[in-house]
Amino acid sequence: MRVTRALVALAVSFAALTTLAPGLASAPTLKGRAVWAHPGDAGTTEASVRAFVEQLARAHVNTIVMEVKTSAGLFWPSQGFAEAVVPRYRDFDFPAVLIREAHARNIQVHAWFFDFAEGADSPVVRQHPEWLALAPDGNPTTSEVLRGRPYRLAWMCPARRPGYTDQWLIPLIREFAARYDVDAIHHDYVRYPGDLAPDTYCFCDYCLRQVPAYASYFSQARPNDPLLGPMDRPHLEAHWERSPRVLPPNWEDYTREMKSRLLLEGSFFPGGHRDLDYFFYEYRTHQIAEFTRQVFEAIRAVKPRVEVSAAVFRNPVQSGRFIGQDWRRFARWVQYLMPMDYRSHFGGDFEGHLDLLAEAIQQQKVWARDFPHLWIGVAAYQLYDEERQPLVRLRALATAGSPVPPEMQPALREVSARVGRFDAALREAIGAYERTPVSGADLAAKLDAFLARPPAGYYPPEKLEKVLERVRAEGVEGVVVFSTSGLTSAGLWPTLGNFFGR
Ligand SMILES: [Zn+2]
Repeated sequence: MRVTRALVALAVSFAALTTLAPGLASAPTLKGRAVWAHPGDAGTTEASVRAFVEQLARAHVNTIVMEVKTSAGLFWPSQGFAEAVVPRYRDFDFPAVLIREAHARNIQVHAWFFDFAEGADSPVVRQHPEWLALAPDGNPTTSEVLRGRPYRLAWMCPARRPGYTDQWLIPLIREFAARYDVDAIHHDYVRYPGDLAPDTYCFCDYCLRQVPAYASYFSQARPNDPLLGPMDRPHLEAHWERSPRVLPPNWEDYTREMKSRLLLEGSFFPGGHRDLDYFFYEYRTHQIAEFTRQVFEAIRAVKPRVEVSAAVFRNPVQSGRFIGQDWRRFARWVQYLMPMDYRSHFGGDFEGHLDLLAEAIQQQKVWARDFPHLWIGVAAYQLYDEERQPLVRLRALATAGSPVPPEMQPALREVSARVGRFDAALREAIGAYERTPVSGADLAAKLDAFLARPPAGYYPPEKLEKVLERVRAEGVEGVVVFSTSGLTSAGLWPTLGNFFGR
């Protein structure tokens, strides 16, 4: 009886709610509904850009983070940096059209900059090789090899003045902010290189001078004084506050390699802990945070209402150590914090990822409490490694005519069962190749076709739904999905639209 009455009351109040506020059910609840996007996804005509923006509007996206500077160049017809403009964008004012079409549909635009990563052959690298970040051997990042291939990103020294930061990067960000009615500037690669050794960059001439100055390894006023005091305390390191001279007397005679080694492996006190690496990492995090301050001040000077967002790694304590990105220090200069909580940034399987994701968000809410907005970054396409990777590997094996190795068989069995629900002939061909690895070219072509245009539902939308629901359950203000092309190739726009529309 009591239950019935409660149910009736519930039904009545629900009815009241729906009649009193008819618009409520259709209004999206999540404040930030964003996507990261590549210019290629929007095309280079007014009509293609309009169609792209209309698709976003249908999916209830209200913020687009669009690349305007990558390692390939600039995607606007820049006046000040014309040589760096990607050729197709010299005559097409892409940001102007995008911003006009987006604003017409109440979608905000953040202009996405690759900050310190340049292309190996970009104009600035050719014109100013002295602005490159250098390893102790005097070589830039492009001299490295990664996974058997030449490393193609040229990382620039964030610290050097005058250098890349103040002569190139900040001026072009300022130009963009002044020229366009953009809502925010978006930082990416706002850090030191992460795929390469964290202890290697930067040891350019400027940094070799500035690290000792920054960490007060000598007094500028009395550069040769040892600044020693009585050793009257039980612990060696307890005598730190006089800032004794740390550099050896013949420091100037050290080579780049010797100086780098001392700055990384030396001790503040001879005979003490090897602790100078602390100051080296501190210098790097300071340089990156200082850059965010200078960008904020530069763009506010030309357009006071423009805001700043940033794509950052998920744990600022660790990224401070490894890539100079302790983003807690950006809080005054960045309004929208967008941690890239991509599945590839966590270990473990999909279910484990959901737990790790929730844990990361709980930590981020504490670390990001001084930021006005915390929007969680999710990579859609990467959720489907289980469905895609075995097929990609099989394609490589088939091209080479190699047999399927035993350790790959369980994953392949699972994925070919799934393939069979959409394409029985392809499943048959996979099975035939497993038994007899011949005529692989045929299978490779079939796999290419399947991967290029996977049947609707092959990538289970539940995975993206689960991740997005987990993010929402943590009570954050917004979500940023990477990326528009990934959503398209995995057929996930309806899934995103349903989630954002709720
Ligand atoms: Zn440097």
